[in-house]
Amino acid sequence: MHKYESLLPRFLSYVQINTRSNEESKTIPSSNFEVEFLNDLKEQLKSIGLSNVRTNERSGYVFATLPSNIDGNVTKIGFISHVDTADFNSENINPQIIDHYDGQSKIKLGNSEYTLDPKVFSSLKKYKGQTLITTDGNTLLGADDKAGVAEIITSMDYLLNHPEIKHGEIEIAFGPDEEIGTGADNFDVKDFGADIAYTVDGGSLGQLQYETFNAASAVVNIKGTDVHPGEAKNVMVNAALLGMQFNQSLPKYESPEYTDGREGFYFLTNIEGTVDQAKLSYIIRDHDESRFESRKQYFKKIADEINDNFSEDIISVDIKDQYYNMAKIIHQDMSVVDLAEKAMNNVGINPDIFPVRGGTDGSKISFMGLPTPNIFAGGENMHGRFEYVSLQTMEKACDLLIEIANLNTKK
Ligand SMILES: [Zn+2]
Repeated sequence: MHKYESLLPRFLSYVQINTRSNEESKTIPSSNFEVEFLNDLKEQLKSIGLSNVRTNERSGYVFATLPSNIDGNVTKIGFISHVDTADFNSENINPQIIDHYDGQSKIKLGNSEYTLDPKVFSSLKKYKGQTLITTDGNTLLGADDKAGVAEIITSMDYLLNHPEIKHGEIEIAFGPDEEIGTGADNFDVKDFGADIAYTVDGGSLGQLQYETFNAASAVVNIKGTDVHPGEAKNVMVNAALLGMQFNQSLPKYESPEYTDGREGFYFLTNIEGTVDQAKLSYIIRDHDESRFESRKQYFKKIADEINDNFSEDIISVDIKDQYYNMAKIIHQDMSVVDLAEKAMNNVGINPDIFPVRGGTDGSKISFMGLPTPNIFAGGENMHGRFEYVSLQTMEKACDLLIEIANLNTKK
């Protein structure tokens, strides 16, 4: 018997709907798939009995409220997850259910040539005896973040059916376009109405994250002078070669493949070049604010030094900040983290707190005035065909959301 009867069917129905976001699109949300799914969710939120179910027009988010069942006011808690899936095949998702996984066998993914092998994916060993949901090898699963969506709705449904569990007012939000990095840009903190919030968008059991990277994108454009090689002496400027020189001036070991923990990096994501022109695209990442700033300065300094050799500036650097480390905001009042940590302990989950080597929707939302750490939704191997999730972890996530809501009334 499962405590949350509706959790698995809900999750399975959500993942089978294609909600891939579209980086090329200029609309908000970026794809019609997302709009349709968000509209479906809206009807479901109404039918389980939530109040004030609405679409925030600016952002495309669907918001809803679970009214308080206590006297007096407590902090209003928000739970947020995203409906879109990553940049990987998401058509005809066909989830497979493995009951009582033995913790050691290879799992064949549908009729495809792919398997989930504990020798390759050692995380599988943690799930002995549990129910796993996998792909059929042809698509991603979309547990990132349909697991979060299913967990939030299921726990709100549970609270509505168990009025003996006390809670304050809860706000919930489902939004688009997390995977293309733009969904939270238009998040409407005022309309949402929560005082603190959690994105339910993390990986394995216990994850609790309130530190993210500071992030910028950087594009280096180089203008060369292309002449016949026979007459090139002292005239030709080879943009492609200058691009290589630029990259070699960066510290070799400060790249993603040589760093972990709180170490930042420069990451060359694309390079294209001829004698005539070259373009190098980077992302710059660092948890530490001052190191982040000096990384950007160093980037400009290299360009300046190369430009000094020419009568005009032939290298231009365009740096754009993308998001910031939410720890700067969270550290001002750690109660949002303490509440989640204590709630985890109360329901028998070991908190697993570490700095994210990336960003979350909360990186942006926290800087809009709503402190928003990230908690686990359960997915493993996200963004590809090897993605899977444990039903028992998803149940624990529901336990956690309910405990956060209840514990918040006891302060
Ligand atoms: Zn996600």
